Amino acid sequence: MTTPSTNTSTVIRVRDLTKTYLLGQTRVRALRGVSLEIQRGEFVAIMGPSGSGKSTFMNLLGCLDRPSGGEYWLGGALVSKLTPDQLADIRNRRIGFIFQGFNLMGRATALKNVEIPMIYSGLQVAEQDRRARAALQMVGLGSRLHHKPAQLSGGQQQRVAIARALVNRPSLILADEPTGNLDTRTSVEIMAILQTLNARGMTVVLVTHETDIANYAQRQVTFRDGVIISDHPVADPRSARVELEQLMKQVVNAPANAPRAVMGAQPASGTPADDEDTAELLSAVATPPRALDDLEAIRREDAP
Ligand code: ADP
Ligand code: MG
Repeated sequence: MTTPSTNTSTVIRVRDLTKTYLLGQTRVRALRGVSLEIQRGEFVAIMGPSGSGKSTFMNLLGCLDRPSGGEYWLGGALVSKLTPDQLADIRNRRIGFIFQGFNLMGRATALKNVEIPMIYSGLQVAEQDRRARAALQMVGLGSRLHHKPAQLSGGQQQRVAIARALVNRPSLILADEPTGNLDTRTSVEIMAILQTLNARGMTVVLVTHETDIANYAQRQVTFRDGVIISDHPVADPRSARVELEQLMKQVVNAPANAPRAVMGAQPASGTPADDEDTAELLSAVATPPRALDDLEAIRREDAP
């Protein structure tokens, strides 16, 4: 096997990756030979119809599952050669996951949910608390630390999940249909957070089957039947923050009783509570968050 040329800016490199599931007597060839490179700091959208292998691919990238064949290098390490402990370490410290269904603990507050990835980190409880607060501030939920998932909107729950993905300061964010259960405006809010994280240096790989959402990315890779059928840069990616700021201007300028505009693919106005929530989120992502810098500093301190 040949080792790929060392390129420190390559985060992900896969070669002829295959995955075959055994379903009873049937073999399902979910991935049939995928080769791809992703550089540090990229924002990539993985697209394709249902069943095309997107989630299978993400699970392999995230070291949640093993390929049937092919090679996967993550940050220069050949994943298939790593021990289970090393894999777990990479998952916990280098990768943040965001799923369509949020996967929060229903009985725990936002703060407790965000502390979960740090339970085995060896950090002092006070430090875990400080980090979790910073991550929640970062996603505009600084005023909802003690809310439980049922007391939050879908978009707010997904933002808690993003904060949870952030607390260990991953360099790679993997998001599988994170806006799949959300309305347009809330989806744009999630994209504003992901674009901010990306601008702050995180590599983002996002699965979506919606073209509108994929247009916030810098590059679009399309799967069909377990192979990549296209891979191209996005000429002029949308800016979620600009779109939300425009929306908020309209809200401020609108006469009190004017009907609230619905703008198709643009984020639509919501209730006054929604507007307040968007404003809080915008200020969190617009003031390049001290909270995030805070986490970066800590991350460096306890780096091996
Ligand atoms: P996508 O995320 O693009 O919708 P998936 O990666 O979930 O696609 O699925 C790709 C194919 O693999 C589909 O045919 C799906 O039914 C099959 N598949 C996915 N996971 C499993 C599994 N755990 N066992 C058997 N078949 C699976
Ligand atoms: Mg899927």
